[in-house]
Amino acid sequence: MTIAAVRTHRLSAPLHTPFVTALRRTTTVETLVVEVIDGDGRPGFGEAPQVWQVTGASVAGAEACVREMLAPLLIGRDADDLQAACALVRRAVVGNESAKAALDVALHDLAARRLGVPLVRLLGGTALRVPTDVTLAAGDAVDLAATAARRRGEGFTVLKLKVGTDARGDLDRVRAVRAAVGPDVRIRLDANQGWTPREAVRVIRAIEDAGLDVELVEQPVHRRDLDGLAWVSDRVDLPILADESVFDVRDLVEVIRRRAADMVNVKLAKCGGLQPARTLLDLAAAHGMGAIVGSMMEGPVGVGAAASLVAAHGTTAVSDLDAAWWLAWSPVAGGIRYEGANVVLPDAPGLGVTGLREAKIQAHA
Ligand SMILES: [Mg+2]
Repeated sequence: MTIAAVRTHRLSAPLHTPFVTALRRTTTVETLVVEVIDGDGRPGFGEAPQVWQVTGASVAGAEACVREMLAPLLIGRDADDLQAACALVRRAVVGNESAKAALDVALHDLAARRLGVPLVRLLGGTALRVPTDVTLAAGDAVDLAATAARRRGEGFTVLKLKVGTDARGDLDRVRAVRAAVGPDVRIRLDANQGWTPREAVRVIRAIEDAGLDVELVEQPVHRRDLDGLAWVSDRVDLPILADESVFDVRDLVEVIRRRAADMVNVKLAKCGGLQPARTLLDLAAAHGMGAIVGSMMEGPVGVGAAASLVAAHGTTAVSDLDAAWWLAWSPVAGGIRYEGANVVLPDAPGLGVTGLREAKIQAHA
């Protein structure tokens, strides 16, 4: 059975709460859903989110890459030859990891549908519930404490605090959140490159000294400053998680070589899909590094794929899969849903996505 067509769909959906980090503020998810269709008309879906500030990926760029470069390579090829098709996509262009991830996931989704099994089964797992953290958007200490208490009431037990917007206030923010949620909630921090190495050491040590029981600190310094990242890791006790510093295998090799971080956040839109993501997870494990799987601000297709990977492969800490939870409504029919602090994968072929809610997307646009 050959691949008959590749289609792209531009999606925009509003968030119920603005998402604010040290890098950006956003109120919508802008994303490209890619559909790979076999000769029977069976679709497989993948997603390329727009993330100007992190990967530089845009909907327009991903769409051009898929249409002009990647789709022509796939049309007419054997839909069951998954490894070869994904390898072809990976080698076709430099960069454009979002577009490559969308096709890698769409090919996996299609393969799982053709076998009649959930994507997690194709990846070698059976679990259909995956715990996630939830992010608290950057804000002042009072707002953060109120939001933290609300999220705890909604069932979340791992909170990810966006810090790094002003180093002087970050200790107060963490203290306010710990006071609001009590001792039983895990708190992790993401500075999104917002600190200098000296600020990072000062803030992290202050948090350690205050006994605030923080789980880990994500990307304290600029992504290219691996020496700074290693310098921070050397001087603090809390585990340091590399996110923006590690896109692909070469990046992770460099972090391992310099012992620059204790953990890595693997994201499909950074590394180019499920196959390279599994390589990253295996490489991290082989070197005794911790790993979680995260996502960009993206919809149920991308998060469903990331959650399926976690369900099959496992991670050393709770993963970061709350992106689609932020959506006011889902732009796709079927797919994942959230239940308390869990992503629930549908017990249906592939990602369980049955279509796009075009009318709703059009009305929103
Ligand atoms: Mg991050």
